[in-house]
Amino acid sequence: MSESFDVIVIGAGPGGYVCAIRAAQLGLKVACVEKRETLGGTCLNVGCIPSKALLQSSENFEETKHHFADHGILVDGVKLDLARMQARKGEVVGANVKGVEFLFKKNKVTWLKGAGKIVAPGKVEVAGQTYDTKNIVIATGSESMPLKGVEVDEKQIVTSTGALELEKVPGHIVVIGGGVIGLELGSVWRRLGAEVTVVEFLDRIVPTMDGEVSKQFERVLSKQGVKFKLKSKVTGAVKAADGVTLTVEPAAGGAAEEIKADVVLLAIGRRAYTESLGLEAAGVAVDERGRVKTDGHFATNVPGIYAIGDVIAGPMLAHKAEDEGVALAEMLVGQAGHVNYGVIPSVVYTWPEVASVGETEEELKARGQEYKSGKFPFTANGRARAMGSTDGFVKILADKKTDRVLGAHILGPDAGTLIAEIAVAMEFGASAEDVARTCHAHPSLNEAVKEAALAVDGRALHI
Ligand SMILES: Cc1cc2nc3c(=O)[nH]c(=O)nc-3n(C[C@H](O)[C@H](O)[C@H](O)COP(=O)(O)OP(=O)(O)OC[C@H]3O[C@@H](n4cnc5c(N)ncnc54)[C@H](O)[C@@H]3O)c2cc1C
Repeated sequence: MSESFDVIVIGAGPGGYVCAIRAAQLGLKVACVEKRETLGGTCLNVGCIPSKALLQSSENFEETKHHFADHGILVDGVKLDLARMQARKGEVVGANVKGVEFLFKKNKVTWLKGAGKIVAPGKVEVAGQTYDTKNIVIATGSESMPLKGVEVDEKQIVTSTGALELEKVPGHIVVIGGGVIGLELGSVWRRLGAEVTVVEFLDRIVPTMDGEVSKQFERVLSKQGVKFKLKSKVTGAVKAADGVTLTVEPAAGGAAEEIKADVVLLAIGRRAYTESLGLEAAGVAVDERGRVKTDGHFATNVPGIYAIGDVIAGPMLAHKAEDEGVALAEMLVGQAGHVNYGVIPSVVYTWPEVASVGETEEELKARGQEYKSGKFPFTANGRARAMGSTDGFVKILADKKTDRVLGAHILGPDAGTLIAEIAVAMEFGASAEDVARTCHAHPSLNEAVKEAALAVDGRALHI
């Protein structure tokens, strides 16, 4: 007879593996099913971690080649060893996925290797064996969204997975989609020498972010050499030995043009992945976008089956998936697990970085919320000047009457780290004045956050 468990988690991405570890910490007998050769899901294998490894390496290359001279450091003959850069990325990924394997052993989580299928509530089949379990957690993540007429081969037309594996720097890379993944990977290849053109359907890049940030971000990336074709859609791609010819039309209709690319990166978003999971047979309901439907407690319509992470509604972010995994594990043992969806930071790891938490000005206006805004530019921050990284600003939005912080939007050096301060402030229901009256070290980038908080009340000191 097969072993039985309290919880079987299907998928070992940041949602699934964190849920499995937390459930085991809480005393449950846990298995996690993963069909990939390694643990860690999209994030550790082909997402967050490898992309950040390449972003760091390519940034180092660009700094050495173009910016060290500003600091009086003269380096001759800077050359790219892409094979070594890619190998280093592999080492970074390897250390991370091995780390999860170690954590599974430490916490006595059983890794069931293979594809998991729900054969009935309380029954999961893996590699020909059926396991009994009190609870099933679907954490099968997401996959790249396809586009009609643009057939991915992961060589000439790639998703993010192929874009992380290129063996030579393309002459011209066209990125379809001006979202986070396209801009991060576009930045990597531009820094390494490619010409980069981003084609975006909407009238602005990173469309879910604050409008002012997205406009300024576009300017900064343009200054770095990225070309943008906004309000445009790709309607076809023809491959030949010497490259790909894309047909690009104005979004509102009109004459089409052709753009030639050596490599095309398709990055128009991601969709929930539930292939061969047996959802239909088990009677688990999905929404119009194929995402598993859940209630406020991650429960599906079938008792004993839950879902978390990219496969359900909400921002497709690793930390959102992780927090859901923890909350669900705690709920399964009767604790009060909770995710505050109003305070989930979101970061674009380009340079400068873009980070945001809470509501944008557009969202506040749309719901008729009266607010005050405080802004502080990095040109007036001593540390940013010392770093030679003065592009961007911090913007803090607060309730007009109560001064409670409602959102923050940062374009600038280390924005992804800076935003954590505001996330903590928001979790504690802080006012802009609370942030402003907190002593911030000098000289630090965080002083720009303090000054933006002061600016909410019209009393910034250094501008
Ligand atoms: C290029 C790129 C960069 C990214 N960068 C960031 C970033 O910087 N920050 C951030 O927060 N997010 C980032 N993301 C998004 C992040 O990777 C996802 O939000 C996160 O991985 C979602 O976690 P998950 O656990 O829900 O699913 P996933 O990480 O997708 O994991 C799901 C796992 O389930 C497995 N699986 C699926 N079906 C089955 C089955 N039937 N049986 C067994 N196993 C199965 C899959 O093999 C996979 O390993 C990035 C994504 C990409 C593509």
